[in-house]
Amino acid sequence: MKPVIPIDKSEILKRYKPIYAKTHKGIQGHALIIGGSYGKIGAVTLSSRACLKTGCGLVTVFIPRCGYKIVQSAYPEVMVLTDISVKYITRIVFDFVPQAIGIGPGIGQDIETHTALHRFVKTNEIPLVIDADALNILSQNKQWMSFLPEKTILTPHQKELERLIGKWDSDAEKIEKTIAFSKQNNLVIVMKGAPTKIFDGDTIYENTTGNAALATAGTGDVLTGMITSLLAQSYEPIDAAIIGVYLHGLTADIALPETGYQAFLASDSIDHIGKAYLSLG
Ligand code: AMP
Ligand code: MG
Repeated sequence: MKPVIPIDKSEILKRYKPIYAKTHKGIQGHALIIGGSYGKIGAVTLSSRACLKTGCGLVTVFIPRCGYKIVQSAYPEVMVLTDISVKYITRIVFDFVPQAIGIGPGIGQDIETHTALHRFVKTNEIPLVIDADALNILSQNKQWMSFLPEKTILTPHQKELERLIGKWDSDAEKIEKTIAFSKQNNLVIVMKGAPTKIFDGDTIYENTTGNAALATAGTGDVLTGMITSLLAQSYEPIDAAIIGVYLHGLTADIALPETGYQAFLASDSIDHIGKAYLSLG
């Protein structure tokens, strides 16, 4: 097997593109985050803010109607499109062309959401990040995998990974199965954990940032927003995944002396994205 490549500052600096002085929001990328359901609007709210804070120019969310006032009042910078349904996503329709789409945070598994996701993946050609219940729905419909754009980024935690690739008996088997899955479907797999590993076929990267403070609600939703933002800023999928995972871990490392492990929240991760970027020099 090839050696595992550490995701450290030198690896990031090979890939990171500082902001061009004369840029404007129209060329910084417009990201679309699709998710949320009744009781889980917070996930898509966190994800959309993390997406903006990671530097894309514009962020729109597509959510069920019950989330409209919540997102608009929490974050005036985020634009909101709503489904016809109050509680769940039932039909994904938008009237612009985003540079990247992140789908899944808080989306739930209503039967109508399965149908909406099926219609969406059959026609979508925009670079994509898939997380949370969108991954779980995909696991139940593996034949949809052939519709995904090349190098779509999946961000499973261990349970979501098991649903995608099946059970494993050892770490070595888990890695073999993830490599095979990534190769067969031409996907980038962000295997979240401590540490997070990224698979691009049989090339494996391992993150060097992050700590146990991240073991709290909403941190995965923040990561999805960050990676989607980088994808919208025209990074290649593998670079978006690598930089996103590194910066996400770094937010927790920077916040730790202020929050300790217990009091760290996913919102603290978002609040430290600026300092994480500044540490790149
Ligand atoms: P999720 O389970 O989808 O909310 O994602 C949790 C996020 O927090 C992932 O990015 C994990 O890699 C990260 N995370 C959770 N626990 C730890 C830990 N003990 N050490 C480092 N990162 C962690
Ligand atoms: Mg999650």
